[in-house]
Amino acid sequence: MKPFHLASREYCASDTVITIASPADSVMVGEGYCTVIAGPCAVENRTDYIKLAIRLKELGADILRGGLFKPRTSPYSFQGLGRSGVDILVEARAETGLPVITEIMDIRDLDILYANVDILQVGSRNMQNYSLLEELGRLDKPVMIKRGLSATIEEWLLAAEYVLKGGNRQIILCERGIRTFETYTRNTVDIGAVPLIKQLTHLPIIVDPSHATGKWKMVAPIANAAIAAGADGVMVEVHQDPDHALSDGKQSLTPENFAQMRAQLLKHAQINRKQPSTAR
Ligand code: PEP
Ligand code: MN
Repeated sequence: MKPFHLASREYCASDTVITIASPADSVMVGEGYCTVIAGPCAVENRTDYIKLAIRLKELGADILRGGLFKPRTSPYSFQGLGRSGVDILVEARAETGLPVITEIMDIRDLDILYANVDILQVGSRNMQNYSLLEELGRLDKPVMIKRGLSATIEEWLLAAEYVLKGGNRQIILCERGIRTFETYTRNTVDIGAVPLIKQLTHLPIIVDPSHATGKWKMVAPIANAAIAAGADGVMVEVHQDPDHALSDGKQSLTPENFAQMRAQLLKHAQINRKQPSTAR
């Protein structure tokens, strides 16, 4: 028996494919699909977010991202709009028909996020917050677990096991780079994790090339590599004006660059027999 029994292929041979609730079409995440999650690092204000969300829908994004609670290294950096920004995500969801994902940092925000968003993201820094994972295990709501900054594959799968053990089967794994001696990139993307995860577990895996590299020019090549390696999708940061973003501007694509990246990505998806995840 593997230490991550419920997450293992031995426990469940068939791939877990998750249907994400959405105001319009259903969005699938898992084997056979290529899901594109896009949006700014943080929701900064209503006007810009809604405008960008509508643009991203036009450009083919399947799911909208937008951080409200930002885990910033410095306490002096922009921390996100917090609970007061939830209405903006709700409006973007209604306006575009797309599901939304946002990070939950604290169990005290579970009530409001559970009621208003479609996927709860566990950030890299919280991958080993076991009380948070146990709480999420009790829900009937998809959870995306990002790989910890220095987490081994086994530690990551054991984090998923906490959620599975509670009864929640709707888990998406997200490779977002790990910390190594290399400093040219923000993190070192572990593309090898993609086929390995596919061998070890039935859970879907996506890659976040934005946080993995920290450089917008590397986002499209790494997104393509992820899909070529068998990932079920990507999550990328997009900002209408990256030079003036309140967080992670250097790794954010403009909407135009996002459109180019998505077009390339769909070619790789086709070669890998993955269809777009939204039935449009
Ligand atoms: C994010 O996706 O908003 C984020 C903070 O990423 P990570 O947890 O991977 O650093
Ligand atoms: Mn970010």
